[in-house]
Amino acid sequence: MLAAPILAMLLVAPPTKAELARYVYPLAKPIRCPKILIDTKEAPDLQAWAETARSLATSWFPQLCQLLATEEFKRPKSLRFVFRAKQDAPAYCAGDEISFSAEWVRKYPDDLGIVIHELTHVVQAYPANKNDVGWLVEGIADYTRWWRYEPEAPRTRIDFSRASYRDAYRTTAAWLAWTSQRYDLRLVPALDRNLRRAEDPMPTFVKFTGKTADALWAEFREASQPKR
Ligand SMILES: [Zn+2]
Repeated sequence: MLAAPILAMLLVAPPTKAELARYVYPLAKPIRCPKILIDTKEAPDLQAWAETARSLATSWFPQLCQLLATEEFKRPKSLRFVFRAKQDAPAYCAGDEISFSAEWVRKYPDDLGIVIHELTHVVQAYPANKNDVGWLVEGIADYTRWWRYEPEAPRTRIDFSRASYRDAYRTTAAWLAWTSQRYDLRLVPALDRNLRRAEDPMPTFVKFTGKTADALWAEFREASQPKR
């Protein structure tokens, strides 16, 4: 099987402790990863991948809690990783269960970042929010994935003629990373706290940067233009 050596290579080069320490918050008590149960009944060939995903999740769960400074987070007792033969989405998280599309995993076995994204949703477990915050929830999950777990991964270019910080996923993540770096590294943990308390997160941008989200997006767009 070709997948194994690729996975091994990815796992030996996580960000260094010093790199991560810049973004990590010392929690009063470390939050350990719950026990993870694996269900590969519908895709027995993915057992090895599932175990790699489990060990990655076990080591990253406490770090995700630290990156988001989740003092108030009560972890679930256990998690389930289920591999489904028929599933359209590559992966999704519902409560304490992450469902992976078996087809996706076979096609992209080196996509372990997907585990970090979904595991972030486990840690988020935000209550319903009357504000429109879905884009931010997905942006934070891609921020931990693309900017903290695999900060050297190649980036897709943002098409600023049509993009917005509310696009969710990578675009929101890129903007959060840039804004945090430029203004205040406590921004994402503060947004996480808002979402955990079902608050409107938008005033937090002003509080930490002195600028509205719209103004920050304009700055990010300006800073991202190729220099002539
Ligand atoms: Zn997501």
